[in-house]
Amino acid sequence: MNDRIRGLPLTASAAGFVAAVVRPEVRAQKAYVVAPADGMIKLEANENALPLPDAVKARVAAALAQVPLNRYPDGAADATRAALRRALAIPDALGLLVGNGSDELIQLVVSALAGPGATVLAPEPTFVMYRVNALNAGLRFVSVALKADFTLDRAAMQEAIERERPAVIFLASPNNPTGARYAAADVEAIIRAAPGLVVLDEAYVPFADESFLGRVGEFPNLLLMGTLSKVGMAGIRLGYAVAAPEWIVELNKVRPPYNVNSLTQAAAVALLAETGWLAEQAGAIRAERRRLTVALAQLAGVEVFPSQANFLLVRVTSADRVFDGLKAKRILVKNVAGGHPLLANCLRITVGTPDENDLLLAAMAELSKVTGPS
Ligand code: PMP
Repeated sequence: MNDRIRGLPLTASAAGFVAAVVRPEVRAQKAYVVAPADGMIKLEANENALPLPDAVKARVAAALAQVPLNRYPDGAADATRAALRRALAIPDALGLLVGNGSDELIQLVVSALAGPGATVLAPEPTFVMYRVNALNAGLRFVSVALKADFTLDRAAMQEAIERERPAVIFLASPNNPTGARYAAADVEAIIRAAPGLVVLDEAYVPFADESFLGRVGEFPNLLLMGTLSKVGMAGIRLGYAVAAPEWIVELNKVRPPYNVNSLTQAAAVALLAETGWLAEQAGAIRAERRRLTVALAQLAGVEVFPSQANFLLVRVTSADRVFDGLKAKRILVKNVAGGHPLLANCLRITVGTPDENDLLLAAMAELSKVTGPS
């Protein structure tokens, strides 16, 4: 019993109990708030804005109608994992784990590696949940700044790896919120220098030129993560991790037994039964990304960073003014300006449907006249 608990009178308030037992690093945080988007054009969460094709919708509906909801799901998610292996050509020699979104997989990885002095290392700016999950699990979190062009600072990363000896390094490639994909040579150098696990988070790889998936078997300390969220299935919450089987054996010990529900499992099998629609929609999003990149770059006071993801990072003269101006026009984007010094005046804009993108471009053109360089 710690001293804070021993000294607590039975009449203490909830706040008193909370202060006694909830860890300070948890109490110091703010919960992740999902922005309300009712009635808005939602270009904020890096979803796929395109609707499911009718035939796919019908296939999913039929599959869901058969799910025995009185039973627990298949804890091993065998059919779901088999569907993923087929759809993504995951080699049989590698282990495969599924999670309630890749968010849960990040949590499982850090909870398996947490221990006295264990450290998580990541370049920043990046996906905020690496830091949040590290702190929640009681690990130290150390970051290394990306270069100003959002490429990896390989020397600084290697120096930090030597100094910190991290239990795990998280690399998101393509990265959120920058959109940049890291050079394979940099990723490889980091994997080889790492004394522990490297998680390569390829959440956005369907929109990128290349994936590292085919190379996972080369590295005993690499775990590749992916998700169905960005390609049109954010609502079902399904993420996956691919690594040497030894890693998956350990992660299964910290995984809740029924972490992926039976509706998600059935939907995933139906969604992945035929994958032509996935490639088609990813191609359409890439084409819209190119159109948006060219059109936004022509606006005064707007800088567009190259993206291999389903969103664009743009720098404007005033992120707050443009964000508010878009919101007033019922367009919701993500204001990431406060997240890191390298993101000063930056907004992250998800590629929408062609109609949504037209509305965004018109709104940005109007706002850039007001907020452009003075
Ligand atoms: N990794 C990255 C880099 C992300 O941007 C996101 C979603 N924002 C996730 C993982 C989590 O995805 P999900 O939990 O929906 O699978």
